Amino acid sequence: MAPGSRTGPLRRGVEAGDRAKVAAVLGVQVADEDARLVLDPRGLAFQRLEWQGDSALDAVVALHRWASPPCCAHQGTSDLVSDAALAVSAERAGLAELMDWRPEPSRLADAVETCVGAGWHVSVQAAVTVVQRLVHADVLLADVLPRPDEAEMSDSLRCDALAAPALVGSAVMEASAATTSTRRRPWPGGRGPPQRAAGAPARRRAGAAGGGGLGLAAGCGLHPHHLLDHVQARVGLVSVVHGLAAGLVEADRLW
Ligand SMILES: [Zn+2]
Ligand SMILES: [Zn+2]
Repeated sequence: MAPGSRTGPLRRGVEAGDRAKVAAVLGVQVADEDARLVLDPRGLAFQRLEWQGDSALDAVVALHRWASPPCCAHQGTSDLVSDAALAVSAERAGLAELMDWRPEPSRLADAVETCVGAGWHVSVQAAVTVVQRLVHADVLLADVLPRPDEAEMSDSLRCDALAAPALVGSAVMEASAATTSTRRRPWPGGRGPPQRAAGAPARRRAGAAGGGGLGLAAGCGLHPHHLLDHVQARVGLVSVVHGLAAGLVEADRLW
C-alpha cells in the first residue's frame, strides 16, 4: 500500500486481535479507545492524544538526558524526536504495519507520539516502555525514578544555575498542562489542542506570587521571564530528585 492520506469514516473500535497486536508493538496494554487511534491515526481525538504524547515524550527524554553526558550526547533532543527520526522508528518497530492505512512519514511520526500518549494514559512507567520501544532504546525506567543522590536542590536553584533544571521543568510542565487540558477541559468550538500554552499560567503564577515560595535569593531579578525560569527549575529539580511522578504533582499545582 502506498503512503498517503485517507478520508471516510473513522474506525469505530478494536477487537481482541487488534488489541493484542497493538500491545505487542507498544510493549504495554493500552485503553481500547487509544488503541483505535493507533490503528487509524486521524481526527480530533487523535490530535489530542498526539499532543499529550508529544509533551510526555519530551518530559521523558528531558529526564533521560539529565545524566551528563547522556548516552545520546551526540544528538540534540530535536534530532531524537524529529519527524524523520520518529517515522524511521515507527517503520522499524512495526507500527506502520499495524495501521488500517499507510500514512505519510509526518503522520507516522505523529502516530509514534500518539503511542506514547496511549502509554501515558496507563502510567508514567508504561509511557517509558513505549518510548524505549519506539523512540530511543537507551531510555530506562530509572530515568524517571527518584535520584536521591542528586545535588541539594537549594544549590541548584541559584539564579545563575537555572538553565539545566528549567529545561527539564519546562517539559514536565508541558506534560502536566496537556494532561490537565485533555482530561478536564474540552477545547472551545471543537478546535484542536492549544499550542505551547503551558508557559502562560506559570508566568501568571510566578508574577502573582512575586517569587514567594521559590526560595529566591536577595537581589534576584524580578523580571517575569526570570521568575518563570525559577518556577521551571523548581519543577525540574523536583522531577529529577523525587522522580517524574512527583514533578508532575508539583507542576499540577500550578494550574
Ligand atoms: Zn540517550
Ligand atoms: Zn533569580
